[in-house]
Amino acid sequence: MTMDTHNIEGHAARFAPPQAPQDGPLNLVGLTLEEIQKAIKALDLESFRAKQIWTALYCHGLRDFEQMTTLARPVRQKLADHFFIGRPEIKAMQKSVDGSCKWLLAMEDGHEIEMVYIPEEDRGALCVSCQVGCTNSCTFCHTGTMRLVRNLSAAEIVMQVMIARDELKDWKVPALEKRKLSNLVLMGMGEPLFNYDNVAKALKIIMNDSGLALGRRKITLSTSGVVPMMERCGRELGVNLAISLHAVSDEVRSRLVPLNKKYPIKDLLQACRNYPAASNARRITFEYVMLKGINDSMEDARALVKLLRGIPAKINLLPYNNWPGSPYEGSDEKTMQTFGDYLNAQGYASPVRSPRGRDIMAACGQLKSASVRSPLLSSSGNREAVEPGI
Ligand code: SAH
Ligand code: SF4
Repeated sequence: MTMDTHNIEGHAARFAPPQAPQDGPLNLVGLTLEEIQKAIKALDLESFRAKQIWTALYCHGLRDFEQMTTLARPVRQKLADHFFIGRPEIKAMQKSVDGSCKWLLAMEDGHEIEMVYIPEEDRGALCVSCQVGCTNSCTFCHTGTMRLVRNLSAAEIVMQVMIARDELKDWKVPALEKRKLSNLVLMGMGEPLFNYDNVAKALKIIMNDSGLALGRRKITLSTSGVVPMMERCGRELGVNLAISLHAVSDEVRSRLVPLNKKYPIKDLLQACRNYPAASNARRITFEYVMLKGINDSMEDARALVKLLRGIPAKINLLPYNNWPGSPYEGSDEKTMQTFGDYLNAQGYASPVRSPRGRDIMAACGQLKSASVRSPLLSSSGNREAVEPGI
């Protein structure tokens, strides 16, 4: 264990989600197949039942043991006595004029997170959160201003996909029809690589072929640059990687993404070069939010191309999504166009992404729930108290 991974493990422990109570019923969602097997064995049920339960949960989206008609009635009763099939509580839902939807979800302990669905013509992406708030404090991001923070459990991450399937009526889809939820992006609230164990467990469940079956090529994990966890993420999960780069010098990037002080650009790009799941066919996405007068000059554009040389890369130029009290302003359209044209000429197809769901504050970096006003945990994770990153 290196010093850095040791620190990250300490961070994970400090912001750990609450443990499931020992005496009450156990949530089956978020358990691996092996864990379900173990749990039902303790009840003297045959181990093949585990696969039946798994199918009911993850292929059919059943929420009630009574609906599991492949199981005999006494078995269903026994399951209902000891387990439950969890979902977060939907506190609010908003729909944008562009069809995007945002849900405010409450966890069992009352903490709230946001989740966004972005439909496109032939597919749809669900943007999930992996922390309540964020343990980072990027200065341009609304989530980074949230005071209350804890990691989400694997169950809480998996349950976002499941409740989205419920809401989108996306469980029973005729074979030829495309699913509404075809892609998953870890780009909601939180830094996924600071919650690696829960994220990894959740993704393994979500990727399982005989369950939710969202393949690793359909999943993109966005990180602000937790360098020591990147190799493991590529090796164990093999998902697409997106890097929140946003600047070409350490001086500017450290101002925008304080974690850069710990893991500077050079180390970050080396970790990208070494990322096991990247290739020319599966490029790493570099996200670059365009901030007026900060990172949007032609000099920046040229330096960006130079920096990314040799890395299988795509660049996503993000228009800045403003929020009340933000210290930044987005670049104007002409500047973004010129910047994008230069990158295109250099071989990077980099359309300026049109933001989705801005009218309902669902666009990148705008998520922030009302949890901040709750008195729970109020001293543990505020912006001032949290060191850059860890
Ligand atoms: N925490 C992860 C994923 C979250 S957000 C990360 O930082 O990578 C997805 C993208 O939106 C990130 O690139 C993030 O830097 C960017 N973003 C944050 N605030 C934004 C804002 N106000 N406008 C536009 N993009 C923003
Ligand atoms: Fe956290 Fe990402 Fe926002 Fe930074 S940009 S504060 S890492 S959610």
